[in-house]
Amino acid sequence: MASFEIPSEQWAQVVEKSGGPVSYKKIPVQQPGPDEVLINVKYSGVCHTDLHAMMGDWPIPTKLPLVGGHEGAGVVVAKGDLVTDLALGDHAGIKWLNGSCLACSFCMQADEPLCPRALLSGYTVDGTFQQYAVAKAAHVARIPKDCDLEAVAPVLCAGITVYKGLKESGARPGQTVAIVGAGGGLGCMAVQYARAMGLHVVGIDGGAEKGESCKALGAAAYVDYMSSADLVQEVKAATPEGLGPHAVLLLAVSERPFQQATEYVRSRGSVVCIGLPAGAFFKAPVFDTVIRMITIKGSYVGNRQDTQEALDFFQRGLVTVPFKTVGLSELQDVYQLMREGKIVGRYVVDTSR
Ligand SMILES: [Zn+2]
Ligand SMILES: [Zn+2]
Repeated sequence: MASFEIPSEQWAQVVEKSGGPVSYKKIPVQQPGPDEVLINVKYSGVCHTDLHAMMGDWPIPTKLPLVGGHEGAGVVVAKGDLVTDLALGDHAGIKWLNGSCLACSFCMQADEPLCPRALLSGYTVDGTFQQYAVAKAAHVARIPKDCDLEAVAPVLCAGITVYKGLKESGARPGQTVAIVGAGGGLGCMAVQYARAMGLHVVGIDGGAEKGESCKALGAAAYVDYMSSADLVQEVKAATPEGLGPHAVLLLAVSERPFQQATEYVRSRGSVVCIGLPAGAFFKAPVFDTVIRMITIKGSYVGNRQDTQEALDFFQRGLVTVPFKTVGLSELQDVYQLMREGKIVGRYVVDTSR
């Protein structure tokens, strides 16, 4: 078995107070508890949730000071006595669900994201914007050795989340799914998972650049909400018989697309909410929801099985992530671009710089 020299201090990006910014500094390395592993995080994706956590946008308070991040890919360098199915040197990933009780009725039925005692990476426990991070062994993603740690990092939140959302939508091979926010970090992965699952994709986003990236990833059609005169009609027209998509995945970070989705979804179709615009509400006409038999639901990350399935698509080369890597020290700049809506694809931070 491999052995690793673990330093007592490490570089991290720390949120000292709600509202930010992050400060790049040295902090102590934590020790894993009996049922935990310590992972030397090599790369971490940057998710919109990390920005919300820093800003204190959500109704649930974060821990403070906080190390954010929940898409960390790295190497197991230490483990507790109870950990028997992971070895030092294994590749593993830290995701949003850092741990859960494994005993409540949600955990018992593989709905562990709903566990009332769930631990959340980069929110209620320190996350992956540091060189060494702790997670419950039962929940870390098992990353196959032939997967590139830099490229696989965004699968650990974005990939799992959109893959689970597609499963929850009930859309079957040969059917059509509309993906709202298709040009963003989650969207570019959703388009590929949907294609790999045998679905036709209508991408919806703003601007020509995002349209280019959707088409390049295999979307059958792209609807630009910025230039479209009638978005609802345009989406319907892009589907067989003009009846609308069988499912809609809402990855948008603004409220308006939520209202439109129930208008263009096909009768009997489902609208799946995934993106979390701060303070947003979802309003749908009861009349149409009833007589067109529309299902409206939420989908929240994924369980351990969803995680391994999402990684399997990646390992088989069915999903590649367009990403750009910067140093961990540049995290605040990434947040700035995120706030300006200027990100196409995903940012990954390299914890060694
Ligand atoms: Zn995330
Ligand atoms: Zn539980």
